[in-house]
Amino acid sequence: MPSAKRDRAIARVKKIGVGPLGHYIGGVPKPGAGPVFDNVEPATGRLLGQVSDATADEVDEAVDAARKAFPVWKAIAGTERRAILHRVADLIVARADEIAAIECLDAGQPWRYMSKAAIRGAENFRFFADRAPAAADGRSLPSADHLNYTTRQPIGPVAVITPWNTPFMLSTWKIAPALAAGCTVVHKPAEWSPYSARLLVEIACEAGVPAGVLNSMNGLGESTGRRLTEHPDIKAVAFVGESRTGSAIISQGAATLKRVHLELGGKNPIIVFDDADFEQALDAAVFMIYSLNGQRCTSSSRVLVQRSIHDEFVRRLVERVRRLKVGNPFDPATDVGPLIHAKHLAKVAGYVEVARSDGATVAAGGTKIEGDGFYFHPTLIVGAEQSMRIAREEIFGPVLTVIAFDDENDAIRKANDIDYGLAAYLWTRDLGRGLRVANAVDAGMVWVNSENVRHLPTPFGGMKASGIGRDGGDWSFEFLMETKNVALAYGTHRVPRIGV
Ligand code: NAD
Repeated sequence: MPSAKRDRAIARVKKIGVGPLGHYIGGVPKPGAGPVFDNVEPATGRLLGQVSDATADEVDEAVDAARKAFPVWKAIAGTERRAILHRVADLIVARADEIAAIECLDAGQPWRYMSKAAIRGAENFRFFADRAPAAADGRSLPSADHLNYTTRQPIGPVAVITPWNTPFMLSTWKIAPALAAGCTVVHKPAEWSPYSARLLVEIACEAGVPAGVLNSMNGLGESTGRRLTEHPDIKAVAFVGESRTGSAIISQGAATLKRVHLELGGKNPIIVFDDADFEQALDAAVFMIYSLNGQRCTSSSRVLVQRSIHDEFVRRLVERVRRLKVGNPFDPATDVGPLIHAKHLAKVAGYVEVARSDGATVAAGGTKIEGDGFYFHPTLIVGAEQSMRIAREEIFGPVLTVIAFDDENDAIRKANDIDYGLAAYLWTRDLGRGLRVANAVDAGMVWVNSENVRHLPTPFGGMKASGIGRDGGDWSFEFLMETKNVALAYGTHRVPRIGV
């Protein structure tokens, strides 16, 4: 797989250091002392390098660095934090191609999306940088005898634990608001795509984020992740990952009363009514499942299509799915790259068998692509019922399940008959119907006549098994900061006298 970009990305990975990828604590890289595990390149299946699983002492060291840096960082004026975080964004932009190449190499995500994802990472920093000076602002709530005012204070050192699907962008989405709020951070990226987190912490330090404010730990979820979530000096855990892991994180943090924010899995419906703009709905259905290799929490993995247009919609879907360009993630023309790991490939492939045995039909794809790497043909499953596992469980791959519906009520019932509630996409030209269905669907985010277009001030997050809490805009600060009420007496009331 010759590619100058890939060669540069491999050289960059090698530059991180000889030996396993370790940690970054207190502003300096540290080799890991713990056991190591392999990290492979999704496009070739070859070993990229080894990674250290942090020991208990290393987790303590990182949390201690974040604890010591906290009073310093929170005391820095919001305007100064703003300037530093803008410098982080500037450096991300300057190194956007390098970051994108590392994501292609390490996560197998196609260049066409990753080149934009790096820039979005910079935008996340700029957005929260601009809000840093006012993050502490509260409300004035006067009563008859007191002036109450609220203010916000950063909660303390927080753990940020992220998944492998779009590692750099998702990390910035959590780390930027934490730093803007005045919190310090220990970040643990996913074991299957750890390299871009190293670039982020290097960039932050170069931009002037003081030592210890952002630390990066590598390791497995069950060891490093667990230790972080159990650590008494970590005050909150911002987590993005599977619903099952989210539930474990609540239990692990219970003894130390951790505040948790969980962004979890999804099985998001795209509901296409027969009055929809057919071509745009088709574009959205294809884009929202097959971009990012279908490894996207907000992917539209179920398309609910009104029966009157069902057959034509399926016919056009089959055409489009067969034309998707699967290949080398570094090629700018690639639509779908390899899946992240052999184990994930086996999981995705397993769902095709489940679909067949449940009585659905594989209309396109359905098989592994022979050769190196973890490639899977973009897959379309038709004739599915909402009761089938392929319509209910998160596959997290390039697999779209089509389900027919009769009318508005049937669409809502099928959309909601599921454990998840992250996102929903509605396509209709009937404004009233758009509003009614948007109100009725169990989803934290609904797009009407649109694909997922993110506007940073809006809340992001899910209902049901898709998460607890929201972030984005001020919602991020609500999670990362303590709200304090101060009541000042006007001197007009009498304190009750007892024991006189
Ligand atoms: P995962 O839950 O397996 O792992 C996520 C992170 O949690 C990793 O860093 C992992 O090491 C860590 N972890 C695992 N067990 C842990 C434990 N016991 N304690 C602490 N940390 C632990 O998820 P994944 O497979 O990496 O990512 C895919 C999942 O992420 C999908 O379900 C997807 O929908 C979800 N996701 C959700 C969003 C969202 O915004 N809602 C965004 C992206 C991905």
